[in-house]
Amino acid sequence: MNSFETLQKMTKGVFLNEENMIKHTSFGIGGPAKAYIVPKDENDLAQILKFANKNSISTYFVGSGSNLLVSDKGIDGIVITLGRAINNYEINGSQVYAESGVMLGKLVKECVKNNLSGLESLIGVPGTLGGALIMNAGAFGGEISNFLKNVTIMTMQGNKKKYKSGEIKFSYRDSTFSSKEIVISAEFELIQSDAKTVAEKKSLASGNRKASQPLKFRSAGSVFKNPAEGAAGYFIDKAGLKGTKMGDAEISNHHANFFVNHGGAKASDVVKLIRLARKTVKNKFGVLLELEVKTLGFKSGTFDV
Ligand SMILES: Cc1cc2nc3c(=O)[nH]c(=O)nc-3n(C[C@H](O)[C@H](O)[C@H](O)COP(=O)(O)OP(=O)(O)OC[C@H]3O[C@@H](n4cnc5c(N)ncnc54)[C@H](O)[C@@H]3O)c2cc1C
Repeated sequence: MNSFETLQKMTKGVFLNEENMIKHTSFGIGGPAKAYIVPKDENDLAQILKFANKNSISTYFVGSGSNLLVSDKGIDGIVITLGRAINNYEINGSQVYAESGVMLGKLVKECVKNNLSGLESLIGVPGTLGGALIMNAGAFGGEISNFLKNVTIMTMQGNKKKYKSGEIKFSYRDSTFSSKEIVISAEFELIQSDAKTVAEKKSLASGNRKASQPLKFRSAGSVFKNPAEGAAGYFIDKAGLKGTKMGDAEISNHHANFFVNHGGAKASDVVKLIRLARKTVKNKFGVLLELEVKTLGFKSGTFDV
């Protein structure tokens, strides 16, 4: 039995061999991962991590794939997600405990129901809590890290470790978690408010999102971070690239920083659009756009211009 077969045998949760990442990304793009694993619980996760580490199996962590571009060739390693398994949460007064697999939208709604303010501007941000913490997800002035107390991670040795929020640096769509640590839960201290105020803030954020984003099509949200000089979408638009198509991928006419999949887009089509946008904006405005989407399975230099 090779090490993959042994890993499959010992996994108590879901273990999918050669699983196509098209099914696990909001873009609907991506080739197969050697295995896509949803551990049954923390103990299962610890055993999987220890085994992968000991047997030098490349291991990648994902949430619900709403910020991912996976290559057409796929991922030479195992992909672990906690969604649908490690996803409990608990609200006690203004204290909120939640595990990484909880969908962010669900968590925000539960906090709003409890008249807790702090996360409501994130309503409509797709994905899991784990992904939101890694990305320091934010919208309309709020970021997931704003009311964070601590985060628990698991190492590749299967040990848990708790970081106080100050021990992790959070910045615009970025955090300093190691890629060798999987985020398993977090605690927040929110602000006790009243139903009307929290509901109003949530509706405002929700309305702004519907007006500004092309939500009818599959995408991974903003492709680039906004540079210091202004909005990435502004530069892509001014460069005349809105509506540019490569295969079934298109730079959205609605929001130029969203690239959408009309059905059969390949990662290679999106890569062409990314390179085109970076090159054109750099040549026209002297601004180098940095990727916000996380990429998996590409050779280094793929996105360079
Ligand atoms: C229509 C649309 C709108 C969006 N709007 C916004 C927005 O307004 N604001 C915003 O910030 N983002 C937005 N996004 C992007 C995306 O929703 C966020 O980045 C989200 O937080 C990603 O969560 P996820 O669970 O899907 O993570 P994934 O996309 O699966 O992963 C993102 C990163 O986190 C890592 N990761 C995920 N889970 C874990 C874990 N448990 N432990 C360790 N590493 C992990 C992955 O390795 C990867 O590097 C949007 C996306 C879409 C499709």
